[in-house]
Amino acid sequence: MTLISTDTVTLSDKICDTFDHWIESGVRRIWLAWDDGKLRYSHPAVKTTAQQVARLDDWNNHEGVFIELNRDLGVMFAAFVHSTTRGQAQGGVRLLDYEHYGSLENLIVDGLRLACGMSEKNASAEIWWGGGKGIICPVHHVVNDYQATKSSEYPTNREELFKAYGRFIASLGGIYITAEDMNTTPQDMRMIHSECRFVTCLPPEMGGSSNPSRYTAQGVFVSMLAGLRHLDGPSQNPLQNKTVLLQGVGNVGRPLLDMIVRAGGNVTVFDPNPVACEEALAEHGTNSVTIFEDVSSNGFEQFIELKGDVFSPNAIGAIITAERIQRMQVRMIAGAANNQLKTRNLADTLQQSNVLYLPDFLINCMGIVNCANEQYGYAESKISTEIDHLQLRVEQLLNRSTDQLSLYDLAIEQAQKLMKQRHPIWPENGRHLISSLIQSNWASPEITN
Ligand code: NAD
Repeated sequence: MTLISTDTVTLSDKICDTFDHWIESGVRRIWLAWDDGKLRYSHPAVKTTAQQVARLDDWNNHEGVFIELNRDLGVMFAAFVHSTTRGQAQGGVRLLDYEHYGSLENLIVDGLRLACGMSEKNASAEIWWGGGKGIICPVHHVVNDYQATKSSEYPTNREELFKAYGRFIASLGGIYITAEDMNTTPQDMRMIHSECRFVTCLPPEMGGSSNPSRYTAQGVFVSMLAGLRHLDGPSQNPLQNKTVLLQGVGNVGRPLLDMIVRAGGNVTVFDPNPVACEEALAEHGTNSVTIFEDVSSNGFEQFIELKGDVFSPNAIGAIITAERIQRMQVRMIAGAANNQLKTRNLADTLQQSNVLYLPDFLINCMGIVNCANEQYGYAESKISTEIDHLQLRVEQLLNRSTDQLSLYDLAIEQAQKLMKQRHPIWPENGRHLISSLIQSNWASPEITN
């Protein structure tokens, strides 16, 4: 194996070019770690990349970033570990391709932000897990090449992809526990599990908790009701005749739409997937559901300007920008998408604009709560108690909020306090696992692919 001595890769390069360059240079695995107040990295060849990552706004002294380049599959695997203070780093794995990310920087920013958000979410929900996130990024294929998940056939290329990701997670020795996320399914988790024990959201026939999305939707729904009661006063049915602008009718958005409509609300849907839109319309009819027809990016800019009571983002992150806040005509934002704010200071802008923002990490936690203790045995009946707890948590925070102290301020303060609590049984376990991994030859394996 020949390692390059000079690092010519920059974060803004196209992800496929970076991948090919590293592969040609003999690099197969890379780690960056924040160890004892210092940035450390796996090889001299990634020095510039490591330093650029540490200068990103979203670098929050993350405990580790682990990357594997799989040449045979043409895929980059990543695991981002923000914190292991409360326990092993946990967060789902998303499958998004090089077309989605474009540059390595976009992939890394996404992973860093999501992992940090998972620390906040797991801490807010008082789960004994730290925060992490996984990304599978095909660099020579598009995600559609691995599809057919809705047919009964599980495609072989998808099976190979998730088994290989399972081997990557296993190689991290328990630092990161993965789960279902965007474009991944319980069946994919089964494939990961065939190679590795550090995975949740397994199918029920394996004793798992399966797809958590309907519980995520329920958590968002009860929080939305709490938010509307806070704005409009006590009501049995705060959604009656209210209008919700719903972005995304996927795993979470669809059950959420059903709950809103059953509660008497009207929903305008924006989703580029025509099948998902048609299904929602066919079930509920045009009296309650309107499909926004122009799903181009221009169309979205018009959608965001619609007058309504609630904007509910349930698709992608970084959707709330300063410029869009100026044009929005809603009273509240409540959705499941992770990292909705493009930058954190936009929480203040929303407060100044009289828009009640229910923070994603606070209200979209039911999915993770559902799978958190799966390894101790899973009883679906316990989840309704957890949903009641979430509603109470949101109500209590709303009651404490003032014009000067927003719900976001209170929720982040509470999360940060809880994030400092060490796991009661294994307080140093995560740090220990990372430190032994980076001292091993993990990043210089025999090249077999
Ligand atoms: P999903 O992939 O099942 O659904 C996403 C939907 O959004 C799809 O219907 C897709 O067509 C649509 N979409 C994609 N790009 C869009 C765009 N630009 N505008 C509008 N719609 C678009 O994903 P999901 O599991 O429903 O998750 C949705 C969001 O909620 C993600 O950000 C995810 O990270 C977050 N989240 C999900 C869970 C969960 O339990 N599934 C838990 C917490 C957070």
